[in-house]
Amino acid sequence: MRLFLIILGIITSPMILQTEKYALWRERMVQSQIIERGITDKRTLFALRKVPRHLFLPPYLWDMAYEDTPLPIGYDQTISQPYIVALMTQSAEPGKSKKVLEIGTGSGYQAAILAEITDSVYTIEIIPELAKMAAEKFRTLGYHNIIAIYGDGYKGLPEHAPFDIIIVTAAPEDIPKSLIDQLAEGGRMVIPIGGQYSFQELVLLTKKNGKLSRKRIASVRFVPFRRLNY
Ligand code: SAH
Repeated sequence: MRLFLIILGIITSPMILQTEKYALWRERMVQSQIIERGITDKRTLFALRKVPRHLFLPPYLWDMAYEDTPLPIGYDQTISQPYIVALMTQSAEPGKSKKVLEIGTGSGYQAAILAEITDSVYTIEIIPELAKMAAEKFRTLGYHNIIAIYGDGYKGLPEHAPFDIIIVTAAPEDIPKSLIDQLAEGGRMVIPIGGQYSFQELVLLTKKNGKLSRKRIASVRFVPFRRLNY
């Protein structure tokens, strides 16, 4: 028994040390990149402290996961910089009973952040391999409140609408009309708008009495919003 415990200790201690190392780096990231830049929403900070961002990246990038930068996730796509994820999350004002739709699952990190705060997150990804990888990640990490769907997010998810929050993580040139229609009364949409090589801005759209108002949040650079050729 004692020998078994010693062997178990030898095997698991590097893993425990590694988990602790990333927890430390995560806390540093929250302090220096997120709080320092003015993010104050408690739920957003809680989620960023909790979600192991490195596990949403290929292992060769784990040691870069908590840096102040977007990173490649394959298929010409990127995981957003931590600050941008925090800014989008805070701007969306997520809360427990709010129903969320994300367009552009990518690595799954933004969906996991939202899932720490809200009861149900629907997320759509247009690249089948990324959609599959993210769905597997949600399963292994126990995010049972994320419904991951493969498809073109342009049409949204009419069968589950309306949504209190819609977060779009790829930039279309114009706001897809179906997403506006699927935003609930009082709902908030956070979306980057602009061309691939031109100026893009992150905007917040809010719906009140059926009317949409628009507020600029920041200048950004996102991957382009794609379409499936039907
Ligand atoms: N939220 C992601 C960011 C991924 S980058 C994360 O946390 O990692 C944006 C993603 O949007 C890419 O994976 C891209 O394939 C996807 N995308 C682009 N156009 C899309 C569309 N029409 N529908 C669904 N996903 C789309």
